[in-house]
Amino acid sequence: MFETLEDRPVDGILRLMQEYRDDPREVKIDLGVGVYKDATGLTPVMRAVKAAEHQLWETQDSKVYTGLTGDPAFADALIGLVLDGAVPREKIAAAATPGGTGAVRQAFELIRLARPDARVFVSDPTWPNHLSILSYLGMEMIPYRYFDEESRGVDFDGMIADIRKAKPGDVVLLHGCCHNPTGANLNMTEWQAVLDVLLETGAVPMIDIAYQGFGDGLEEDAAATRLVASSVPECLIAASCSKNFGIYRERTGLLMAISSNADARKRNQDTLAFLNRQNFSFPPDHGARLVTMILNDDALRADWMAELEEVRTSMLGLRQQLADELQRLSGSDRFGFLAQHRGMFSRLGTTPEKVAEMRRDSGIYMVADSRMNIAGLNAQTIPVLARAIIDAGI
Ligand code: PMP
Repeated sequence: MFETLEDRPVDGILRLMQEYRDDPREVKIDLGVGVYKDATGLTPVMRAVKAAEHQLWETQDSKVYTGLTGDPAFADALIGLVLDGAVPREKIAAAATPGGTGAVRQAFELIRLARPDARVFVSDPTWPNHLSILSYLGMEMIPYRYFDEESRGVDFDGMIADIRKAKPGDVVLLHGCCHNPTGANLNMTEWQAVLDVLLETGAVPMIDIAYQGFGDGLEEDAAATRLVASSVPECLIAASCSKNFGIYRERTGLLMAISSNADARKRNQDTLAFLNRQNFSFPPDHGARLVTMILNDDALRADWMAELEEVRTSMLGLRQQLADELQRLSGSDRFGFLAQHRGMFSRLGTTPEKVAEMRRDSGIYMVADSRMNIAGLNAQTIPVLARAIIDAGI
């Protein structure tokens, strides 16, 4: 039977990681895969996570199944972190999922069940997994303009013109903060305008928030999500704990479905339980439990926030150093956008050929669309990257 399967190309980023590993050069820089790395290149277990794991090991006396949508205490804790009371709890149905990807997948499935003909408006570009899951589910996607290749900021007018074409029953997928792959984000005035379009068109927003705390701060990064979620009748939010808690492999995420009345909320909650049951039954619990313990314990929460803040400011520092070095080498401000972008990524805005040239000539590994993981840099490698960018004539 399996001879009928088609060949599947290896994921571009995973192939890039392998090429990096196989590269014998002493100076090489990995700006590929989207994980945070400290100055020594390590992706550490956060202190609060270690402490919570220790406590859990000592106190947990059963690993019996939780509920189909996970432990309600996890939902409460993460809803608190993302929404902070912006939406009344009784309007929110929620399901724990395997990572933010699981939340995105279940959100799309919920949309498809509710509206088989819904069109999902996606930013151009967006996280490639959005596109591949939508395509796998046979859902229609409509790209909206997002990245301005010239300024490397948001093409705001293009975005607004494109999302205006949405109709009631369509979905507009938005990145809550730290846009992946570009690093270019809307300011709050622009978010307000996007909200106005959502209200005008009647389209339902779906917000993917995978980097809360990596951009301008925990509260600042959630501000747009709170604004939208508190102002529209219906909204989906897919949240990931992979990055801000550094628990990538624990697969910890939450899907929130906001609806306007108690009946709809109950149907959403039951449908989320049904979807989890069909796809994997009970969601993973370990990471969710750690997150719950950390958020509900003053000391653990404070320590987690302090460490997350170090992570955030270290990336901001790297951005500034890179922008400064490029300004020095180029004598122009044209790379200032690198300091303006937020989150782990920046799209440099160059061709796949130039990306390949930098890999060949300088051992710099970035994704073909010129997405760079800023956390892959350090004080030693910034001058190497800046020199390569200038030498490639970017
Ligand atoms: N959404 C976006 C935009 C992301 O970048 C990521 C992480 N790469 C995710 C969702 C989900 O990540 P995970 O499944 O690892 O939690």
